[in-house]
Amino acid sequence: MLIHLNDVLSCDVKTVSKKVNLEMNSFDSSLGSFPFIQKDPAELTITNLGEEKLRIEGKAEIVAAIPCDRCLMEVDTPLKLTFHKEVDMKQTAEGRIEDLDETDFIIGYNLDVDKLVYSEILVNWPMKTLCREDCKGICRKCGTNLNHGACSCDTVELDPRMAVIAEIFKNSN
Ligand SMILES: [Zn+2]
Ligand SMILES: [Zn+2]
Repeated sequence: MLIHLNDVLSCDVKTVSKKVNLEMNSFDSSLGSFPFIQKDPAELTITNLGEEKLRIEGKAEIVAAIPCDRCLMEVDTPLKLTFHKEVDMKQTAEGRIEDLDETDFIIGYNLDVDKLVYSEILVNWPMKTLCREDCKGICRKCGTNLNHGACSCDTVELDPRMAVIAEIFKNSN
């Protein structure tokens, strides 16, 4: 959703607070598509700092379904996002790119809230997702979720030293 920034930039209105519903229902990145289980409206406060500079502050809470790194079961992962950005509206898009300023959420005189939220999710994306600390993962042969019980595959990976002993036993039979 777009917020028109003209009324904030006009001299008489200094601060505008808004609750904005997010349009996106999932976080789509090179890692995959992660549906949102829950998304609260983003709460934003935009302050006119003068000289066409704006401060954008606020927060948003989202719960995304992220697969467990080991067993792939979806884990409801809360993402608590906070925003604190300062934008110079005098800058052109080209100027921002030159300054390595990644404010692609400003389009002309509009703030694209979904893009702002997207960039913040990207920064806050968990490095590791586990359904539980001791998740046993899935069997690499049959795909059984080993948290729900063992499968019948012979996947015991023997310690190399044990393998030698196992070999001796096999030969002695
Ligand atoms: Zn797991
Ligand atoms: Zn198996």
